[in-house]
Parts: sequence; structure tokens; C-alpha cells
Amino acid sequence: MATGKINVSVDNIFPLIKKFLYSDHEIFLRELVSNATDATLKLKHLTSIGEAKVEYGNPIIEIKADKEGKKLHIIDQGLGMTEDEVKKYINEVAFSGAEEFLNKYEDTAKDSGIIGHFGLGFYSAFMVAHKVEIITKSYKDEPAVRWSCDGSPEFVMEPAEKENRGTEIILHIAEDSTEFLEDSKISGLLSKYNKFMPIPIKFGMKTETLPKPEGAKEDDPAPTQEVDNIINNPNPAWTKQPADLEAKDYQEFYRELYPMQFEEPLFNIHLNVDYPFNLTGILYFPKLTNDLNVQKDKIQLYQNQVFVTDNVEGIVPEFLTMLRGVIDSPDIPLNVSRSYLQADGAVKKISSYITRKVADKLNSLFKNNREDFEAKWNDIKIVIEYGMLSEDKFFDKADKFALYPTVDGSYFTYDELLEKIKDAQTDKDGKTIILYASDKEAQHSYIETAKAKGYEVLLLDSPIIGHLMQKLEGSKENISFARVD
Ligand code: ADP
Ligand code: MG
Repeated sequence: MATGKINVSVDNIFPLIKKFLYSDHEIFLRELVSNATDATLKLKHLTSIGEAKVEYGNPIIEIKADKEGKKLHIIDQGLGMTEDEVKKYINEVAFSGAEEFLNKYEDTAKDSGIIGHFGLGFYSAFMVAHKVEIITKSYKDEPAVRWSCDGSPEFVMEPAEKENRGTEIILHIAEDSTEFLEDSKISGLLSKYNKFMPIPIKFGMKTETLPKPEGAKEDDPAPTQEVDNIINNPNPAWTKQPADLEAKDYQEFYRELYPMQFEEPLFNIHLNVDYPFNLTGILYFPKLTNDLNVQKDKIQLYQNQVFVTDNVEGIVPEFLTMLRGVIDSPDIPLNVSRSYLQADGAVKKISSYITRKVADKLNSLFKNNREDFEAKWNDIKIVIEYGMLSEDKFFDKADKFALYPTVDGSYFTYDELLEKIKDAQTDKDGKTIILYASDKEAQHSYIETAKAKGYEVLLLDSPIIGHLMQKLEGSKENISFARVD
């Protein structure tokens, strides 16, 4: 048996971890499952290039809660660690990274999501555990090791009994964190953070109903069997090529993302780029009403299939935060403040890429199926009008497909509208007056009078249209909006 001191100069780092990351305790599970996933993916790679001469098989990750023993187990069948690797990766690297990070980010650490990229990932276990054990056996032919640490910088390392390759992390859950032993809590966390991770994750068993055997009677119960309860979909739609997906796959994925959303999305945009940054994702245009109240089904941000946040402010242009779906990019720095994020070059590029893709998609819908586009206009106009107001680049593109409906139900683009009205509605100073109504019923008589004179009357009723009119008056030549009354 060996004992030693974890390489850290702060006397006891764990109170610091607890204090700084207080708001985010639950991410320990994401971190440990991420490590288990990494270990499995590394083994997959090593076997595929012939570096590791072992059978890769069909590895899964298992989460087990032992309520009585107050322990939570995270078990993987990945590459494992040798004794030297535990010394190197657990005793050295992680702590130096943590130390550096805590010194550097002392004042911003609290809500900036720092874990993972500074090597503090594994140690987040101490946010909920008073003692952590690692039992690990490398794929290399070396004895298994047990490492344990009780929250002081002293660790214990000794040989262990373990037949199969892989790593088991055992968390001895602290008194103040026993909620993390509850099935419902664990399921909730797994489905929040790990729902689309690339290696199957098992949490308990579930009962599956089998088809009735032939000749079974009407009221014979269907046979059942107990199977592993796999909580994730390792191959979510956004990781596939658009060419391999059909409309129904996109719809099914929407259901998977938002099980409580019963309305179908209007259309989707598949994002897929690997240069100059890497980003995949699927955005959906939901049916929007004029009610811009807080929405709870938001765009979700992932990194390599690990859920990070559903606050995409600064990454997705504001007018598109009303959309739904997923974006996944390893190139978005997560451990920084929002203001830093907005100034980050890669993030700016990502934001303008998303704007461009959305504009292109709208343009192609407009061009390829104008009738359908007109039918959807009422549900998507808020996003488009808001985008035209807030992003000049989007304005330039949307100017070609933004629609202006008339009280009679025709839809014109701006250019079509001007062409149509310029003779009848241009005054002696050469100014074209665009007439509109905001309420068909209340302004009925004015509308009729204007129409009798041969004027077109638009029906513009969205909440931000006033601002858009001002913007159009400022950017187009010699036009002015006037309400019919
Ligand atoms: P990071 O994942 O960012 O490298 P962590 O603190 O989460 O930082 O993990 C530190 C290191 O410990 C990992 O890089 C890996 O080498 C090792 N490690 C952690 N968990 C496992 C595991 N389940 N199997 C194999 N190695 C692991
Ligand atoms: Mg990690």
C-alpha cells in the first residue's frame, strides 16, 4: 500500500471547490460520465488503430445507486488506468490545473461553469462526496489499482481485485448531498446532461413488453422481460448527415428534445460546418404567437454531445433565441463570462454563420414554395422582423423575402409592393405613401374608403412592426408609412 500527498499547494482544496461551485453541484455526474465516455472512446480509437490488442465489444457505462451504503457508482469498460497513470492523471495533473484555475478565476469562478477544461473535472466528485474511490484496471496487462481520498490532500493507493478492464468510481455521498442517491434525481440529471452522449448509459433495469406469441388469447397478458434501462440515444439526429435524414427523422428528434411539446415545428435548419470552426446542430422554427413571453423550451448547447446549457445568449443572435433545437460545438469557450464570449472571434463567426444559414433557408423556402411560405408567414414574421431590426446583414437578405400582407390576403415583397403602388400612391414630391391598417375590424371604414380610391392597404399587426417601419423609412428612399385612419 502506498500513501502520498496529492500535488497541491493549497492546504485543502475541497472546501474551495464546494464554495466556488456551490450553485452547480449537480454537474459532478456530467463530469464523471464524460470521463467514462472519454475512456471508452479512447479505447475504441486505440483498438481501431491496432494500438490496443483487446476486444472492444459493446461497452456501456453503468450508474448504480446504493442507498443503504450511501454510495454512487460510475462504472465504465474503457481503457482504465495503470498505477503510473493514476499517479500522473489523478495525483498531478488535475490538481495543478485546479490550483491554477482557482487562483486565476477566484472572483468569477462562481457561475462561469469552469469544470472540465481546467482539469477539475474529476475532482468535482468532492462537491457531493466525502470520500472517493477509484478502482481501475488498464487494458494493458497490469494489476488493478485502488485509489481513495477522503477530501484531504492525502490519498491512499493499493493493489485491487478487478478482473475486467475499465474504471469504477465510487462516491461516498456526503450527508448534505444524499439527494443524489435518489433514483428520480439521478434520472433527472442523466436526462438533462447525458441524453445524447455517444456511449450507452445504463441506469437500472426496465420492463419491456414482448409481442404475444401466436395463438395467444385476446385477454392473455403480453409477455414481458427485464432489460437494461439505457437512458441515452448515442446517435442523435444532429450528428448525422442531412442526406441521411428524412422529414420524419427531424420530427422525431424534435419530440426527443422536447417531449412536452405537442405542436409540430414549421421547418428546420440543419447546421453542419467544420471550417473555420466546428459546429453541428438542428434548429427548428416553432409556431410563434405574438406573445413573446418567457419560453421554456429553448435552444440547447452541447459540446461533443454533452449538454452544457440552454442559455445561448451571446452565441446565437438574439432574434434567433426564439427558435428551438440543438447546437453542438467544441469551439465555444465555456469557462468565461458572457462579455468575454461576445468579444470572442470564433463565437462571433459562429453567430454570423447561424444568421446566414437561417436567412438562406428562409430564402430557399420563399423561392421554392412561395405559397407555403405565405401560409407560414404569420407564424414566423416575428423572428424575421426582429432580425431585420437588429442585424443589418440579416436585413439585407430578408428584404428580398420579407412579406407585407394586404387586408385582402395578398402577400407582397417590398419590391413588389412598391411596383404595385407607386403610380397611385406617390405624391407630388415623389414620396410613396404605404398605407396600412393595424386592426381590420376597428379600421374597417377607413380601409374601405382607401380601397375605393384604388389604394392598397397592408395589414401590419405584429408588436414590433412600428420599429420596422421606421427602419424602412430610414433606409429606403422616399417612402412613408401612414395608417389608414
Ligand atoms: P479532463 O477530463 O478534462 O482531462 P478530469 O479531471 O476530468 O480532466 O480527468 C483527469 C484525467 O483522469 C483524465 O484526463 C483521464 O486521463 C483520467 N481519468 C478520469 N476518469 C477516468 C476514467 N473513468 N477512466 C480512465 N481515465 C480516467
Ligand atoms: Mg473530465
